[in-house]
Amino acid sequence: MANPVPNPAECGIKVFCRVRPLNDTEEKGGSKFVPKFPGNADDAISIAGKVYVFDKVFKPNTSQEQVYMDAAYHIVQDVLTGYNGTVFAYGQTSSGKTHTMEGVMGDTDKQGIIPRIISDIFTHIYNMDENLEFHIKVSYFEIYMERIRDLLDITKTNLSIHEDKNRVPFVKGATERFVSSPEEVMEAIEEGKSNRHIAVTNMNEHSSRSHSVFQIQVKQENTETQKKLTGKLYLVDLAGSEKVSKTGAEGTVLEEAKNINKSLSALGNVISALAEGTKSHVPYRDSKLTRILQESLGGNSRTTVVICCSPASYNEGETKSTLMFGQRAK
Ligand code: ADP
Ligand code: MG
Repeated sequence: MANPVPNPAECGIKVFCRVRPLNDTEEKGGSKFVPKFPGNADDAISIAGKVYVFDKVFKPNTSQEQVYMDAAYHIVQDVLTGYNGTVFAYGQTSSGKTHTMEGVMGDTDKQGIIPRIISDIFTHIYNMDENLEFHIKVSYFEIYMERIRDLLDITKTNLSIHEDKNRVPFVKGATERFVSSPEEVMEAIEEGKSNRHIAVTNMNEHSSRSHSVFQIQVKQENTETQKKLTGKLYLVDLAGSEKVSKTGAEGTVLEEAKNINKSLSALGNVISALAEGTKSHVPYRDSKLTRILQESLGGNSRTTVVICCSPASYNEGETKSTLMFGQRAK
């Protein structure tokens, strides 16, 4: 795909809302399609008479390519001009987070944001000035119960966060893999995903209770002027935001739920503090996730949140709370 070079957007937070189609189970269960899209606006959604406005609202028939072009394409240029960024998908389990972030990898139409960003980063690099030398590396880990596990090296099951000399937090000892083609990046992702499978018995449940964090760092040096630039991008598929029923949960499930609540609410607090511009106290320290992302949230960086919603009446309560989360970031 020969995309034009995108313009870097201004710093800040953008929030997109994506509503997936009603699925078979929901239809068979008699669920109705509840959201409404008022007027011809492409930035509003309403549920039970309450209207929520975002940078854009993607209706169920929106293609993967359209979501990418509107929500994430500008990030390619950001990374290549030395900005940091983060893209998150937020929503209850089976609302479409993984579909949005990964989609069907290797399928031109159905692939999601991550493979598209990677492919376009390399396309732009291949077309750049020959005086530029690039070093690209990726890391991939997951956060489960506030423990950081390296998905590129299964022996590293509890990595810790340290600060560098500029007080920027980083995951100490995380595998960093140098890559020189989109194929090598996709291999690293596939390897990480299969490592996740090995370590757990029920992949679907596990992935709904852990955050997966993929990081790509692009360093460039102009060999004539020696000018250097580094852009770092985090692509995050968050744990499901659904409430665990207060009556049924105990033991591990309850502990998982508490950890997820803690980190998602920490993320919500950080993003809303940044959105309000109250930068004097942004509570990054309240979770591992927000600490790791500190450098790529706020400041000289850009954050893109895609909140994912089920349209089913059965999920109306969760959908409302997802919309509220997105609204706090505005
Ligand atoms: P999550 O990661 O939030 O748990 P998934 O991305 O796995 O949810 O989505 C659940 C199911 O719904 C998957 O089978 C996925 O392919 C399908 N799905 C999600 N979003 C869409 C969409 N926008 N269009 C078509 N199918 C979708
Ligand atoms: Mg998922």
